[in-house]
Amino acid sequence: MLLRHTNDEVLERTALTVNPAKTCQPVGAMYAALGLHNCLPHSHGSQGCCSYHRSALTRHYKEPVMAATSSFTEGASVFGGQANLLQAIQTIFTVYNPDVIAVHTTCLSETIGDDLVQIIAKAVGEGKVPEGKHVIHCNTPSYVGSHVTGFSNMAKAFVTYFADPNAEKTKTINVIPGWVEPSDMRELKALAQSMGIEILMYPDTSDVLDLPQTGKHEFYPKGGITVEQIRASGGSLATIGLGPSASAATVDALQSKCAIPGTTLELPIGLQATDRFIDLLRTTAGVTVPDSITDERGRLLDMISDMHQYVHGKRVALFGDPDQLVSLTEFLTLLDMKPVYIVTGTPTPAFETRVKAALAGTVPEAKIKAGAQADMYLMHQWIKQETVDLLIGNTYGKYIARDENIPFVRHGFPILDRVGHSYFPTVGYKGAMRLLEKILGVLMDRQDREAPEESFELTM
Ligand code: SF4
Repeated sequence: MLLRHTNDEVLERTALTVNPAKTCQPVGAMYAALGLHNCLPHSHGSQGCCSYHRSALTRHYKEPVMAATSSFTEGASVFGGQANLLQAIQTIFTVYNPDVIAVHTTCLSETIGDDLVQIIAKAVGEGKVPEGKHVIHCNTPSYVGSHVTGFSNMAKAFVTYFADPNAEKTKTINVIPGWVEPSDMRELKALAQSMGIEILMYPDTSDVLDLPQTGKHEFYPKGGITVEQIRASGGSLATIGLGPSASAATVDALQSKCAIPGTTLELPIGLQATDRFIDLLRTTAGVTVPDSITDERGRLLDMISDMHQYVHGKRVALFGDPDQLVSLTEFLTLLDMKPVYIVTGTPTPAFETRVKAALAGTVPEAKIKAGAQADMYLMHQWIKQETVDLLIGNTYGKYIARDENIPFVRHGFPILDRVGHSYFPTVGYKGAMRLLEKILGVLMDRQDREAPEESFELTM
């Protein structure tokens, strides 16, 4: 029992988090910055923070994640990091030649109070930013929010720095995908393309963190939105944000800066959420949904009705990022499963309301919690009080799954011990089929493993 000290006596906590269901803000800012073409993320803080953030992303995506750091030492910690950042900007443009340096702060530089707007203006004034190149920034103090907040802040910075309110008006739709996998971003683009709709999606980490093996290392991969495309997004017809926690701020920024009407939906994970996304694309662009998408939906429905008996009534505990959890809850509810424990470490004011809407009154006993004390320790205690049939969450759930002998589906960030997440989407109808396949796989594996010989079935 690796977690043998967890007991079932839940005590009210206000100042202690044990095994948080989140990670730190700059990880999200770094991930979002990688979705900008020819961009080098830059961590304004100590080398240790930058190494941790790079390794978290590298381990999840199985790709070498590049980022620079201001390399704070004792001097910068006392006197501020301006000199380090000015030197870094000059060195990075000279040695690594990106189009954009995307700077995010860390706990240390935030606590010191470094003014990035002033430092960047000074770098420009001193000629350290070559013609046609850019330095952008967002603030990511990690003692508030989570990696989702950091992602949202950097995505919004793309608009603040680049979106052009005077861009030529077009019929293009901006799509802000939220923190999803490169495979999900690729799938969202494919769905829009099959409807004949031109979209601009950012951040876009497809072809950045899911690269084919060619034998050649490319410092700046071919993927990612370009600065020119973000500028042009200021003239788009509309914006669709996916996942309020990760995308609403960017949708709002486009609305207030460029007067582009915006709508934020829940992430299109599962049948109903995908229906809403497809329908909004359809009505906004004034197109019809092609048979290929209708057929995909039909195949998902067929799979659900064929396999419903195996999932019906199963109790589920899930943890992770708020946008993912709300849509997963809705999908599990559609499958007649019972999401009973739902926790996210990302502080999200409307989380409980959103999850309750997704549950639609079907699981009145559900326990829902967001914020610092909504950790995996609490979820484990709830599981000890009354167990579940399935656990869904990132790799860190494997300890609970092992100790409590619970089938476990890995979903979310980070996944450190499996592959597939960056290659196979979970958004859209195809993504829902993959999720259902994974859920059925672990439930049936357990049945095969534990069934007495006389009830061991070849055909299930
Ligand atoms: S929590 Fe703060 S100090 Fe720790 S790695 Fe993140 S940014 Fe650095």
